[in-house]
Amino acid sequence: MQILGTDVGFRGKMVNGVLRIIHGVYKEMSMEHGSYINVPRRPPTSQEGAWINEIVLANPAWSDVDLGELFIVAECRCGCRSVVLEAPSQPQNPRFGGHQGLVGEIELGINLDGKNDVISVLLHFAEGSLSLLEVIWYNFPEPVPSTWKEINREVRIGG
Ligand SMILES: [Zn+2]
Repeated sequence: MQILGTDVGFRGKMVNGVLRIIHGVYKEMSMEHGSYINVPRRPPTSQEGAWINEIVLANPAWSDVDLGELFIVAECRCGCRSVVLEAPSQPQNPRFGGHQGLVGEIELGINLDGKNDVISVLLHFAEGSLSLLEVIWYNFPEPVPSTWKEINREVRIGG
């Protein structure tokens, strides 16, 4: 169950019966999020790359796409670890040129210090190219933990 806020800039989700306001972008690939800052162009970390690969490979509309080399150009500084991908000069997936949406999502069931929790990782596209890897941590404003024990994961593809 997802509850959209009337104010742009937050949304909530029922987790364990509690409505938690999720930090994140309400509009797909909205750059209105105040915490994104440009960083020197860099390749994805191994964890970012693994999440991107897993979501891309799960979606038949994206799994055969040649993504080329990916670069991170901005990071959210609120502690959520969301990152913005550089837009290539040509769309990676021309059939989605002019569109934006979700490639897919990983829901990670984790255990942190004996407590079960959830982290969602959403991969967005804009103008036919991967645009944003959004990490949603339902305990915002606590920062996303640096390590955790993964219990299960579920990959869902976007429309
Ligand atoms: Zn953030």
